[in-house]
Amino acid sequence: MKKQHLLGIDIGATNLHVGLVPFPTKGTDLAEYEEPIDVAHGSEGIINQIHRVVERLANRQDIPLESIASIGVGSTGPLDVGTLKHPTNLPFEEVPIVEPLKVRYQVPCEMIGDCHAAVLGEVYFGVGKGQNRDNLNLGFVNIGSGLGVGIYSSGRLLLGKDCNAGEIGHIPLVTNGLMLKCNCGNYGCAEIYCSGLGIAKHGKIQLINENLDSELYTLARAKKARISDSDTWTYQDFEDFIDAELVCQAARQGVPLAERVLKSAIYYGGLVLSIIANTFDPDVITIGGTVAIEAQDLLLDGFRNEMVKHLRVREPNIQVTPLGRLAVLYGAAALAIEQL
Ligand SMILES: [Zn+2]
Repeated sequence: MKKQHLLGIDIGATNLHVGLVPFPTKGTDLAEYEEPIDVAHGSEGIINQIHRVVERLANRQDIPLESIASIGVGSTGPLDVGTLKHPTNLPFEEVPIVEPLKVRYQVPCEMIGDCHAAVLGEVYFGVGKGQNRDNLNLGFVNIGSGLGVGIYSSGRLLLGKDCNAGEIGHIPLVTNGLMLKCNCGNYGCAEIYCSGLGIAKHGKIQLINENLDSELYTLARAKKARISDSDTWTYQDFEDFIDAELVCQAARQGVPLAERVLKSAIYYGGLVLSIIANTFDPDVITIGGTVAIEAQDLLLDGFRNEMVKHLRVREPNIQVTPLGRLAVLYGAAALAIEQL
């Protein structure tokens, strides 16, 4: 059987997403399948789920599994040589991923972090497609639940000693004033001001500080009323219904509290971009992740305006990734190419 396909796997905090790309690749052809990640059956469960969804996609596309030439995995971290190691946003301890895939498919397989994968996706399928890789200097910023960064510098993906380079979201940018606590345990990290979880948390804290006297609170209660018969409002509702999407919606409607939260997200996001630009001097920084993609109207110009105030390098181009929500999946396929 001729090996004619690359298998890409994106292990996210909420979804498992797999894709098959014909090889040699022609443009951005990708067949994909996605479902919520199985967290109920431990580490065995996730490996079984990967096998199952790969088979489902291959069957649907009429692609024999024997035609897979190599496998790339982009995953939420932290990672340690082919293994998920106590991932921050998944309830697993240590889960070997690469070894079981190698055994099952008998082809080369490698795994890297999701933001590293995404920037590699840009190189092969996105803004860097068709260019000489030795001259490419790209940054990728993911603004989803958290804030992560991937860097490709003069033909090389920067991975670091444990493949965890790019944790720029945990640079402590705020050292006095409103010090929000990050999920990593520290205070004042960039991520907790400029990310989905951060924007939601900041919105809640501002609401409490203002004794719930804001249109944001009214919008949250109206949102619950639309999807629920119950007219009670509990602490859990406060936690669940005030999310980044609602804060962005309120900001578009001119709610002052939400505008302040977004202003702070833009400021710290802009600082993150200036840190990436000043440190790595990229030509382009692409921005992906659900929050960045869905709120690009609110964020992008502000990010740029803040970034340029702090630059000591030629200004990089800032744009939303052309790969959209598939950036990590394309990156996993790109990692598969690198193993051939
Ligand atoms: Zn942090």
